[in-house]
Amino acid sequence: MKKKKIAVVGAGAAGAAAAINAAREGAEVVVFEKQESLGRKIAASGNGLCNISNLEISYKNYNGDNPRFVQNIFGRFSLESTRSFFLSLGLPWRERQQGRLYPYSLQARTVCDVLLDGVIRAGCEIKFHRCVESISYSKNDKFTIITAGKEKYLFDSVILACGGKSFAGLGGSDRGYHLAISLGHSVTELVPAIVPLNIHDKSLRRLEGIKWDVALTAIIDGKKKDFSTGEILFTKYGISGPVTLDISGTVNRALTSNKTAEIHLDLFPDFSHEQLLTFIKSISDDRTIIKTLETVLKKRMPEFFLSHLKIAPSRKANSIKESELLQLVDIFKGHILVPGEPRPFAEAVVTSGGVPVSEVYPNSCESKIVNGLYIVGELLDIDGDCGGYNLQFAWSSGAVAGRAASKPSS
Ligand SMILES: Cc1cc2nc3c(=O)[nH]c(=O)nc-3n(C[C@H](O)[C@H](O)[C@H](O)COP(=O)(O)OP(=O)(O)OC[C@H]3O[C@@H](n4cnc5c(N)ncnc54)[C@H](O)[C@@H]3O)c2cc1C
Repeated sequence: MKKKKIAVVGAGAAGAAAAINAAREGAEVVVFEKQESLGRKIAASGNGLCNISNLEISYKNYNGDNPRFVQNIFGRFSLESTRSFFLSLGLPWRERQQGRLYPYSLQARTVCDVLLDGVIRAGCEIKFHRCVESISYSKNDKFTIITAGKEKYLFDSVILACGGKSFAGLGGSDRGYHLAISLGHSVTELVPAIVPLNIHDKSLRRLEGIKWDVALTAIIDGKKKDFSTGEILFTKYGISGPVTLDISGTVNRALTSNKTAEIHLDLFPDFSHEQLLTFIKSISDDRTIIKTLETVLKKRMPEFFLSHLKIAPSRKANSIKESELLQLVDIFKGHILVPGEPRPFAEAVVTSGGVPVSEVYPNSCESKIVNGLYIVGELLDIDGDCGGYNLQFAWSSGAVAGRAASKPSS
């Protein structure tokens, strides 16, 4: 049996998992990385803590043309396989909040260190500062890789693990997509996801810097498509904060496919309309309405919302008519924000879209177009919600492809 010679293009999350798994199965592995170190995005992930995965993994946490694709991958390399994989590298993890898993050290750097150590100990060769510029395939030579420095290498198999195009400063680029296209694949529309949102209404700027716990609902073409609760941050261009990042992919995908998108902002998610009406009435006395509302909202917020209703801030709270109070409740429970152009990829945690999963086999991530080519991680048209889902897909798809690619040819 001949040992398989495998190139892994990209030493990020998926590439590292692929390389270690392929080498442990006996393959000869060379990893090409254009940057100076392994896993720059991993090192920056989870605000430096690295939200490595999540206890609750379901296809429902993923987006793309066919999110159920992830079930095949997790069926072959599950959360438990991932835990064992990291334990085999000497890295235990711990749950921190809402099922989110982190390295026990709570340092993203530790994850990069154990992966690099694992790549080397598994016997892989790792070449930093090597940007793969072209990959060609022929029946005789199999894969020819040419780097930007014009070095040439031959391989039996290639695992493309170049990641998405977001955060260029951490290695994001569209090179991986171009390499896939050059080998006959297609790429769906690329959209920034897990990203702040521009909002058309420039007057929202008056709330800049305010943080508040809200519920956001994304309404696409008139239908409720996404919902999240958590902290919003008002900015000079629109909205940010975890709750915004959660629904941003849904909103941006809608905008780039010419659908209408609206965001309904609920400032009092713990109250029903009726409860909020009763609550406001209970605090209304002969103070002005603005003073009254400033006891339950942050400064600047009452003024902003009252201005939309044309209720003079100087009116006594107990003089506000029932119909006006109902309007106030409506705006607090469902102020409509109209999103503008998506913010740039430079600010997006992930790239939504990519190589269609229908172009790879679901049990291995091997290309249906070129035998021996595997496509993994963010490069595929799969992106996850906030909460460790993107890294989990990278670990699992990389490991599945690494194991499949290493099977010796006879
Ligand atoms: C700031 C930030 C925070 C994040 N936090 C989290 C988090 O906490 N939890 C979570 O689940 N996800 C998080 N993500 C998303 C997660 O990091 C990515 O989804 C994941 O790293 C994708 O893995 P990948 O291997 O596909 O790509 P990457 O990890 O991006 O790796 C791709 C690698 O390929 C290299 N490369 C590209 N093209 C070439 C080429 N032509 N030749 C050679 N090398 C090349 C790149 O330099 C890079 O090192 C975060 C992302 C960012 C930007």
